[in-house]
Amino acid sequence: MKRTLLVGLDAACWEYLNPLLQAGQLPNIQKLMDTGAWGVLNSTMPPWTPTAWSSIVTGKNPGKHGVFDMLRREPGANSFTMTDALHRQGTPFWKYLNDAGVRVGLVNVPFTYPPTAVDGFLVCGFGTPGTARDITWPPEALPWIESRFGSFVATVPAEQLRSSQPDEILAAEMQHQASLVEAGIELAERYQVDVLAINLMLTDHANHKMPVLEQVQKAYIQSDDDLGTLLKSWQPDNVLLISDHGSSRLKGDFLLNVWLREHDYCVYEDGILSQQKSTLNWILKEWLQDHDGRRGLIGKALRRCIQFGLPRLPRVFQKRFWAMVERDVPFSESHMRLNTNPDFRRTTLFPGSLYSGLLYFNLSNREPGGVITPADRNSILSRLKAELSMIVDPENGKPLFTKIYGSEEIYFGPAAEHAPDLIADAYLSHWNIRTRQPAPFRGKRHGQYFVTFDHNGDYGWHSPDGVFIFSGSAFQPGQAASPGHVMDVPATLLHLYDIAQPDDWDGSVQLGLFTAELSQRPVQVQPGDEEPTAVSPSGLSSAENESIHSYLRALGYLE
Ligand SMILES: [Zn+2]
Repeated sequence: MKRTLLVGLDAACWEYLNPLLQAGQLPNIQKLMDTGAWGVLNSTMPPWTPTAWSSIVTGKNPGKHGVFDMLRREPGANSFTMTDALHRQGTPFWKYLNDAGVRVGLVNVPFTYPPTAVDGFLVCGFGTPGTARDITWPPEALPWIESRFGSFVATVPAEQLRSSQPDEILAAEMQHQASLVEAGIELAERYQVDVLAINLMLTDHANHKMPVLEQVQKAYIQSDDDLGTLLKSWQPDNVLLISDHGSSRLKGDFLLNVWLREHDYCVYEDGILSQQKSTLNWILKEWLQDHDGRRGLIGKALRRCIQFGLPRLPRVFQKRFWAMVERDVPFSESHMRLNTNPDFRRTTLFPGSLYSGLLYFNLSNREPGGVITPADRNSILSRLKAELSMIVDPENGKPLFTKIYGSEEIYFGPAAEHAPDLIADAYLSHWNIRTRQPAPFRGKRHGQYFVTFDHNGDYGWHSPDGVFIFSGSAFQPGQAASPGHVMDVPATLLHLYDIAQPDDWDGSVQLGLFTAELSQRPVQVQPGDEEPTAVSPSGLSSAENESIHSYLRALGYLE
């Protein structure tokens, strides 16, 4: 049987690839382009790894697979848990391949933990708790890997990402990717697979964490070398190189959470002053020192007075006080207010992940104690859309948001009811949309809601357009006439093996990219999934949840 390599170059985009290709620094990618069809691959909204990869795995739009975010809103609650493989609805593409007798190996495919049986093998990818040891299928694959290559973990440990300098992080990520590639090749031979799917995430992580573009380029050059190793050692007949979304460098953050609070859409819990004494103390120290240099005993007495008196002042005076403090200590009120939870008795909206720009209405027919009726939802949504679309980038005066969607505009299917209600798309603006927690104190403020910073945080983010290069004997070389979509990837893969398309898939076979013979092969249809009835509960223990949380925090995805 013919061998196919499905390789993810996570977050790759033509904007990053082209200068390196022109300089001859990506010889393996260049070789695939010379012998393949290539073009732009549109991502999902949001263009996030869990959402986009779930569409690649299932061939479906997020309204059917149900993965919208790193976090998943628990049905019937306003709390969130980490996304895992059990949250994803829909049969994965490898099941259809297996049913047709095609053996599949999966390495580092995001959100494949906990592992499930596959005819071939599985090494769980991004989204696996750092503490987990059950990270392969079959289970004995892990001890086998370790007997060959020494100790093996699914991801670079969170502590290492947090405590290291950018160059050290890059080196650790490079080494980890090399070990995945090495293990993947050996396992592919051992389990005699026909399709090997492997996601190289170095390119994505480097874009997030590296302050300078040259370091990101180093990650691309290394990944091209890893791709070369895969091609040389495993000798596939066809290669589907894809990215789940694109990349961009960041200007800074737009503080959507601060905006929502100041426009009274999101109300945070009271009683915060007593909970956050040390933060308030620090703010007051900074302020008094900046303000008129008061230190020592007088400063201490003043701080005491303010700590005691401030919560007792009417709201309007509190507001004036904070406006005064924020002149010297930017975002200090936000720090005090936004470190708490939304007050669900009074809040209209509440946010999902840290940067997602995904918002949920506090609906009376859905959230416990929700306050917005379904009828009010639509009028508030229209008002919010109008208000948000007025916001402009302070650097160029262009609208910050390309589009603001209500969930019903972009998702369809039985899982759409779990979607965020409002999706703010600023992925072409180069600003992060911060929906939880305020900006760092040391950030540089631009107007009321924009901040740039020079700390060791996030330097890159996602853009909606990824890439594809489909290369080998099945494909017609040249630039594709139109963009593909991530949902087309599994459809195209099934067509390579002449397997019928599940009738509930939303992607289509990219027939125009195949050679004449394969493009004329009729596309058969087979029954897809029966309608899913319920969302599965989280498959993770609370310790596992915390472990993924800590990893994603270290990468900058979560607070
Ligand atoms: Zn990604």
